Amino acid sequence: MTPNQPARPTWAETNLDALAFNLHSIRRFVGEAIPIMAVVKADAYGHGAIECAKRLEREGAEWFGVALPEEGEEHRNAGIESPILCFGNWAGQEEMMLRHKLTPVVFQLERLAAFDREAAESGDKIKVHVKIDTGMGRVGVRADDAAEFAAELKRFAHIEVEGLMTHFASADEIVSEQTDLQMRLFADAVAAFHEHGFRPTYLDMANSPGAVVHPASRGTMVRIGGLLYGLGGDVLPKGFAGPELRPVMSLHTRISFLKQVPTGTTIGYGATFVTKRESLIATLPIGYHDGYPRSLSNKGRVLINEHFAPVVGRVSMDWTTIDVTDIPDVKVGDQVTLIGSQGDSSISVEDIAAVAETISYEITCGISKRVRREFKSTKENLPL
Ligand SMILES: *Cc1c(COP(=O)(O)O)cnc(C)c1O
Repeated sequence: MTPNQPARPTWAETNLDALAFNLHSIRRFVGEAIPIMAVVKADAYGHGAIECAKRLEREGAEWFGVALPEEGEEHRNAGIESPILCFGNWAGQEEMMLRHKLTPVVFQLERLAAFDREAAESGDKIKVHVKIDTGMGRVGVRADDAAEFAAELKRFAHIEVEGLMTHFASADEIVSEQTDLQMRLFADAVAAFHEHGFRPTYLDMANSPGAVVHPASRGTMVRIGGLLYGLGGDVLPKGFAGPELRPVMSLHTRISFLKQVPTGTTIGYGATFVTKRESLIATLPIGYHDGYPRSLSNKGRVLINEHFAPVVGRVSMDWTTIDVTDIPDVKVGDQVTLIGSQGDSSISVEDIAAVAETISYEITCGISKRVRREFKSTKENLPL
């Protein structure tokens, strides 16, 4: 899109200064000595992975974590040089991963064999991180099988085990028997690898809540996603004094259409809202395809001229209607904030998630590609 081309005025803003603030705040909280893997999978939880990674790399994040090798490849193509761990990878991606120095997470001997062959061909060694399943129950070598797996691993001459990792299922609870058990099982798996002569540099367990709530889980690196994006509200236990965080994403649009309607007017699909008074209804150019959840129909609220206005009727694919009868001086083109603040009032991602009965991650990840991204930064960002 050329800069002057008119476009739908619906945009998400990523505040890169807030992102940097959160990184430093988390680092102070978990301790300066512990490397931080900034998890930027899923387009940095919807915040724009490349721009976020560039800023985080510049601010000193030691590692990046992505879900797919393709995501890692995008970072390399954009000039990110720090180590990148790929939580998943699939048959046929070995050559590309080696070429881009993307570090695989492995938990299957067939995948190790494939990486070993590829590394042998290029005359190189490949570093891998082995995932141990200590209770999440998704991917990983089951903790019981760790010793046997370590024994098998010795036959791959071109594989170096640089890390062992596990992932918590319930670290967001202050007292968590499951987290304690997961830590014990992980320690046993580490011991089994040691017995077989492996000395991995990285022994990491903690995600955002682990790193903050369970100091014993910090190991030799922490993998932080949600907290970097300021989503502490539902990642950390209620009332827990964690690091100070700032929201990173805000979501905005502008009023497209205003109409004065009489009592008894139906609004939206299913006529689920009927005006009970003469009303001023504004239509916003944003809908569920943009990631504004349909479950906010007749429940959500937005900010306009520093006042809250309720969503009335169903949120549809491309449009949302709000009641602005009580708000002074409303005009077509006025800025509406769906996530973020105006004056002293604010709507957090966590607020929206609570109404939509989900978690904040799903809201930010769900803001679709159709929503233009803007990046706010007082530091000049490196060219993309
Ligand atoms: C997504 C993910 C994380 C980050 O979790 P947060 O709760 O967002 O900090 C860490 N480790 C792994 C393996 C992940 O998949």
